[in-house]
Amino acid sequence: MPDCYIALGGNQGSVRETFARALEHLNLHPEISVIQTSTWIETAPVGDQTSDPFLNGAAQLSTSLSPESLLLELQQLEAEWGRIRKVRWGARPLDLDLLLYDQRIISTDDLIVPHPACWYRRFVLDPLAEIAADVIHPEKQITIQELRQRLLVTPFRFVLAGLPPEETNSLIENLQQRYPEVLFSSWELQDSTESAFQEPTLIAWLGSPMSSTKFEDLPLIPRLNLSEYQGDTERIVHVLQSALDFQ
Ligand code: AMP
Repeated sequence: MPDCYIALGGNQGSVRETFARALEHLNLHPEISVIQTSTWIETAPVGDQTSDPFLNGAAQLSTSLSPESLLLELQQLEAEWGRIRKVRWGARPLDLDLLLYDQRIISTDDLIVPHPACWYRRFVLDPLAEIAADVIHPEKQITIQELRQRLLVTPFRFVLAGLPPEETNSLIENLQQRYPEVLFSSWELQDSTESAFQEPTLIAWLGSPMSSTKFEDLPLIPRLNLSEYQGDTERIVHVLQSALDFQ
């Protein structure tokens, strides 16, 4: 039976109890077995929509349901716990995401697997690495443990790509003030012959189809398509914050 990993999150009500009941509920489904769960970790909220800390975790499931049917089950459970899908990054009693479904790569309007943020968010990777350390991320082609380890290397190298130089420079100036410990640079302005060139931790591509740097030309592991966040510094900050730590 296919092996899946889901992420659990929540910051309203008694979240530990909600997680336990949600997992019980999943296990009662004739086509789902809960194989193992991570520890639950307390994390600071990303963004300013809510100030209550989150509890995050991961679980391994075995299921004969299709990915789409499994997502519907997860969404039904979220709805039962009264999640209102209004505020991005907002308060919620229960958030369930489908992270991995075997080695499948799916991209439809309703479902993207592997979950597009699962490879760089510490609050997802830390619990996931407890139960899926050696599982290969089917797009990045390295293990979950390796994806997590990359984020721990200091300095954290955040590279911006796809924007005109003046926009890149002003964004770097803004971000550098907020994250003095991070090494920011521009993909287009880097000197690739530099002997000390280090692989970026993340390359945030903020381009469009007209940009001279194409997303597909960037290295597979660190590249992250943030083109929809162009001009929205706060959302770029959220991405960076979620990759840095969960304290
Ligand atoms: P969120 O509010 O971040 O939980 O996102 C929920 C929306 O993301 C729903 O409309 C889902 O259809 C969509 N979605 C796409 N891929 C996934 C996934 N792998 N797991 C959960 N939701 C997903």
